[in-house]
Amino acid sequence: MIYFDNAATTLVDENVLATFNKITKEIYANAASPHAFAKQSDAYLNKARSAILALLHLNDSYEIIFTANATEANNLGIIGYCLANPYNGKTIITTKIEHASVLEPIKYLQENHGYNVLYVDLDEYGHVNIEHLNNLLNEDVCLVAIMAVNNEIGSVNDLKAISETINSKNPKTVFYSDTTQGIGKVELKCNLCDMFCLSAHKIHGLKGCGMLVKKRKIRIIPFLHGGGQEGGLRSGTVDVAGAYCLAKALQIASISLKNNEKYVKTLFDRLYDKLDERKDLFLINSSKYGTPYILNFSLCDRKASVVTEALSMRGFMVSSVSACSSKKEPYSYVLEALGKESFAFHNSIRISFSHLNTIEEVDSFYETLINILKEIRK
Ligand code: PMP
Repeated sequence: MIYFDNAATTLVDENVLATFNKITKEIYANAASPHAFAKQSDAYLNKARSAILALLHLNDSYEIIFTANATEANNLGIIGYCLANPYNGKTIITTKIEHASVLEPIKYLQENHGYNVLYVDLDEYGHVNIEHLNNLLNEDVCLVAIMAVNNEIGSVNDLKAISETINSKNPKTVFYSDTTQGIGKVELKCNLCDMFCLSAHKIHGLKGCGMLVKKRKIRIIPFLHGGGQEGGLRSGTVDVAGAYCLAKALQIASISLKNNEKYVKTLFDRLYDKLDERKDLFLINSSKYGTPYILNFSLCDRKASVVTEALSMRGFMVSSVSACSSKKEPYSYVLEALGKESFAFHNSIRISFSHLNTIEEVDSFYETLINILKEIRK
């Protein structure tokens, strides 16, 4: 099997798995219990928090709330903030190409709590138009939610320009960034964001472990009420091993970030150049200057669903649209929002790499793709 669906999830790292086994067996006390064994669990939890903050170059003006995944973190950050601060404004600025776990909580606030939602203009690759953002910002904007790296096409937003624009226009507005596809993969300055998130499984960590990181001074309300764990923001016995492994996965990813990114760029460029030579067959949707981990293209005159199925039968695992929306919608709302033609947003294929992929896999993928296109009818 050749796996090119790393934006959906990644293979867990052996060291992360070994750490999980060890901590699960050895440090299994409930971190909130009163005894000495529990103190060990709590110490591991604290070690995880400090390690994550250090790896992200954040001081203790930030805090971490461990969650099950980025979906939960996005919901908790966005809804939790707005409902905790109803007098900070009733307008939210976002983009039309956010992940569903950002768009849906915002829609929920719009439909159930009277929030006004403004969508900032994007260029053809999904980068935010800073001038338009500046024009949209006003006293009533409580939250700006703009992703760092797009999960379908891999465009990387300029967090610095976004945060500077917000701060100069309306410093009280909170900047939330969905950093799920960026952290551990591309260099991000997380301290430009007031709140952001991660799912460990996107960086060779475990599924079921994620986090919301926020400035301590930002008040949010919890969804889960109970024992008051995670500073009262997410009750329930904390998964110490999971949290510790998230830190471990981030540490491994951070150490190799630059090398991995450089290596993956060779894979990206190889495929990009090959696809670019056949403009009669392919329309490339990703920018050459985005993250190298994601390469999205559309088929000019074949059905993507048929081609991805044929690829899958030959052992190539790729996505047509992001895994989270592929069951709901047979087309890419991201490409549609970016003004692509109908054939393009109905027939896109997303290749998402990891450092475990090889040039040989890329060559073999391209050859197989061309063969499939020859075999199936237009
Ligand atoms: N945001 C982005 C940008 C993503 O790519 C994903 C995963 N597809 C998520 C949020 C949600 O992650 P999870 O499914 O792990 O909650």
